[in-house]
Amino acid sequence: MASISLDKLNKHYGSLHHAVKDVDLEIADKEFVALVGPSGCGKSTTLRMIAGLEDISGGEIRIDGKVVNHLPPRDRDVAMVFQNYALYQHMNVYDNLAFGLRNKKVPESEIKAAIDRAAGILGLHELMKRKPRQLSGGQQQRVALGRCIVRNPLVFLFDEPLSNLDAKLRAQMRIEIKRLHAQVPTTSVFVTHDQVEAMTLGDRIVVMRDGRVQQVGTPLSVYSKPVNRFVAGFIGAPAMNFIEVTVGPALAVTADGLRLMVTEPAAQALGAYRGRKVILGVRPEHLVLGEGAEGRSFDCVVEVVEQLGSEILLEARLGGTRITIARVAAETAVAAGDRVRVSAPPGRLHFFDAETETAIVG
Ligand code: ADP
Repeated sequence: MASISLDKLNKHYGSLHHAVKDVDLEIADKEFVALVGPSGCGKSTTLRMIAGLEDISGGEIRIDGKVVNHLPPRDRDVAMVFQNYALYQHMNVYDNLAFGLRNKKVPESEIKAAIDRAAGILGLHELMKRKPRQLSGGQQQRVALGRCIVRNPLVFLFDEPLSNLDAKLRAQMRIEIKRLHAQVPTTSVFVTHDQVEAMTLGDRIVVMRDGRVQQVGTPLSVYSKPVNRFVAGFIGAPAMNFIEVTVGPALAVTADGLRLMVTEPAAQALGAYRGRKVILGVRPEHLVLGEGAEGRSFDCVVEVVEQLGSEILLEARLGGTRITIARVAAETAVAAGDRVRVSAPPGRLHFFDAETETAIVG
């Protein structure tokens, strides 16, 4: 049982590279938080500082209320799962699971009870005598998870643990990790570059870019109210469409081939931008084929049709901008070259300042 607090956390690598910048974060006891962002944004460094594997250049880390800045990893009571599993190749599964507890001189009977419990949760009973090389990637990662569970730590730290697995197995392991957290609710921080993983696993997600936290919130709040264009484009798949538009006198936004009426509450916020360019954002899944309410529709030309069976994904051109339209019914008759009418329902439009890229309204 532990909360984690990061207070103005900073990491410099040498004098030139400022990898983590003033990160503030409060993680509640039992909460599952996913740190997500593109490669190099500082998520692993943040995690490794929590684990004690990386020195802190500035700021404070508290686990369970206690400042741990200078505590070595073994005294922080955290368990870490890595991308490469980090199992001992010469030991069988049982001994891998037992290793940490034996080091702590825990009696064998207690070790066996802890392993039995973990093996039950993760379905490892049949694998106990095997060496890691006799296991699939998914099984090895399950053993790595088991090794964390048997230690019963204050905190679980996950560093891209699913990146080495194929897509199907990744989806399965995601569910296993979610199930594990429900059964053993331990405060968890999960680092990933995959926004789907972050969205599906995190009670809250923390979107990072270039060493800084961009937004913290529940997956749904970040998806529906991204604070800036970067978050809007990073969270959600396929990615949000962005169209440069001009805010007209009657609060219609216009671009090459587009004229959309803006209604309240967006209209009020956009008032200050009259005559200026802003970035309109609309998610592919929110665009609808066909004529919508007045002032809500536009034409575009289909360039690519992707039939997915469950739905069609359209790549289309609106003036000079490429846009994606998702969730088109699979049986729709549409072909490359067709001119289609598309509507954007009210309440689904996001607007971003063209210079600062922060959300004006969304
Ligand atoms: P992420 O996990 O988001 O991909 P990292 O936290 O691993 O990013 O790295 C953040 C930045 O710090 C990157 O630009 C990376 O190149 C740099 N970095 C990471 N580790 C070191 C190191 N040991 N020495 C110098 N630079 C590093």
